[in-house]
Amino acid sequence: MNHYWLSPKDQRHNIWIFYTESMETGIRLREQYVPLQCAECKKYDELAAIELGISPDVKIRSKSDYLMSDDGLICVSEAAQKVLLEVCPTSVRFVPLPGDSRYSILLPTSFVPTDPAKSHMEFHRPCQRCGRFRETCLSPALASMSLPSGSNVFVCPDLAIEGYRERSFWFLASEDVVSAFRAARLSGVDFEPA
Ligand SMILES: [Zn+2]
Repeated sequence: MNHYWLSPKDQRHNIWIFYTESMETGIRLREQYVPLQCAECKKYDELAAIELGISPDVKIRSKSDYLMSDDGLICVSEAAQKVLLEVCPTSVRFVPLPGDSRYSILLPTSFVPTDPAKSHMEFHRPCQRCGRFRETCLSPALASMSLPSGSNVFVCPDLAIEGYRERSFWFLASEDVVSAFRAARLSGVDFEPA
C-alpha cells in the first residue's frame, strides 16, 4: 500500500486565519490569540487558538477544495469534506469558519505518534522558553510514524512541522483515500509519495 503526502498548491491570494494583514498594521496576530503567545518565539498553541474560536471576518478567497492558509491550517471545501467523511470518517474532524460557509478547517481526530529519531527530519533553533523549533526541514519518514491498521489511512503526524511563524498541518493518505480525492476531482492538492 502506497502512502502520499497531500501537498497543497500555492494560492493566488494570502489566506490568514490566526493573523490579519492590512496596509496599516502589516501582518499581526489577532488580539484574542496574543495571550497564547510564547514571550520568546511568539508562537502559540494552534489547537488552543482554534478552541478560542475563529473570527467571523475570516473569509477565504480561493476556488480550491484543499488549501493551506498562510498560518499553516488546512481548509477544505464541502466537496472535500464529503469525500473524507465517506472514506475515513473516524480520522477527521472539521471546524467550520463562522464567516465563510464554503470552508472548514481540517483536523485529525488524533495525531499519529511519530519518532523524531527515525523521522529523518531536521530540527533547528529550539526556543529557550517553550522548546518549540523555529524551523524544521523535511516531512517525517514513513517508517517513523505508527500508522493505524486498515486500508483507509488519513493521518497527521504528532511531530510538528514548524515554520518561522507557525506549525503547519500536513496530512498523509493511503492510496484509497487519494483515489477518492482523484475520483471526486478535488482541486488544489498534489500527491507526493511518502
Ligand atoms: Zn517559544
